[in-house]
Amino acid sequence: MGTSIKLRPHHILCLHGFKGLGYSEDFIKQMQEISDKIKRERHVKISFIFDLDILCHSCTEDNRKACLQQNSLSRLIDKRLKKKLKGLLRRETSLTFFLEKLYKTISARKMDYICRGCEWKKFGYCREGYLKKRLMLEKEIT
Ligand code: SF4
Repeated sequence: MGTSIKLRPHHILCLHGFKGLGYSEDFIKQMQEISDKIKRERHVKISFIFDLDILCHSCTEDNRKACLQQNSLSRLIDKRLKKKLKGLLRRETSLTFFLEKLYKTISARKMDYICRGCEWKKFGYCREGYLKKRLMLEKEIT
């Protein structure tokens, strides 16, 4: 997989709530690989695409077709995150730098807005995982 990861913007949020659940075996395997890599390596570079990423390509065909629709929920969630993060999604950065900016910019309330409509939101895993990481970083830098 190399030392850089290219993801759809909202997947960087989804990874915070990953508990081994997903749309297909392949999707779960890919999420696990990326999640392990992010935990294992600190010098990962990250960049973003507004199209199908490695996770999408391991998802079900039906989901891929649905997500490619111009008005799909996943595109809308990507747009919401882009609007909040302004230019941060435009260039490849170190994952550490990106996460610091993400945690400073996206509060729990903003995440609730960004994720509105997602079927996984009701479980609260992503929000819980995100706030935990955000708090850990706050403690590290204060
Ligand atoms: S609620 Fe949905 S869109 Fe938001 S982080 Fe979780 S899985 Fe991703």
